[in-house]
Amino acid sequence: MLTISPIPAFSDNYIWHLQQGGDHWVVDPGDARPVFDALDDKPLSGILITHHHPDHTGGIAELHRHYGCPVYGPGSIEGVTEPLANGDQREILGQPMQVMDVPGHTLDHLALLIEEPGSNGTPQLHLFCGDTLFAAGCGRLFEGTPVQMYQSLSKLAALPPETRVYCAHEYTLANLHFAEAVEPGNAAIRNRIAESEKLRADDRATLPSTIGEELATNPFLRCHIPGVARRAANHGANGGTEDSDEVEVFARLRRWKDKF
Ligand SMILES: [Zn+2]
Repeated sequence: MLTISPIPAFSDNYIWHLQQGGDHWVVDPGDARPVFDALDDKPLSGILITHHHPDHTGGIAELHRHYGCPVYGPGSIEGVTEPLANGDQREILGQPMQVMDVPGHTLDHLALLIEEPGSNGTPQLHLFCGDTLFAAGCGRLFEGTPVQMYQSLSKLAALPPETRVYCAHEYTLANLHFAEAVEPGNAAIRNRIAESEKLRADDRATLPSTIGEELATNPFLRCHIPGVARRAANHGANGGTEDSDEVEVFARLRRWKDKF
């Protein structure tokens, strides 16, 4: 059985720690020290990387030097030993892993989908999406266009609703407050704020979430909802004309959130 737990790093990053039997992998180790602490004396079998930002890659060199383990990720990143590209299938921890490119936050950004056989015959999907899809939010557009990011998010939104979503930052509550400003009448958002506040009060991660939860509460996955389009228009930099084009709604929401 695959266990997945967050290793907190910096002020709000999570390095996801995957464990199956004696096999240990980490995703996006921005810092080596918390990984050494979490593993104690156990060996690291491999590293997965979603994109090139230093808070996701800063620990690669030290961990690779110490454990000599393979590093899977975008081929342009220094220290990656197993370059991945869109459509690749690999086996990680004995489970199939599918690679999707999700440009927008950065141009090299990958999402990694691990399929674990379920007890009832339905596989459990685990999505490692770095800084592309956040709980109730999405990453900033540092390198890509709104069209690219919207297409990337749409790809992730199309995964089965039970898919577990492991993002790389604890931004959930701040994102939910923005979501509530976009959709003040959305009860799912209100409920999620209450649940997340409880978890944070106990110093627990609000993650993973699921694609189903994101579809119900994440404004960036709800650009097709007329109420969201209307609110985006009222706050969009281009003035108050409602636009039914989902990419334009997305772009307006992203600009609004940048200043929220
Ligand atoms: Zn990033």
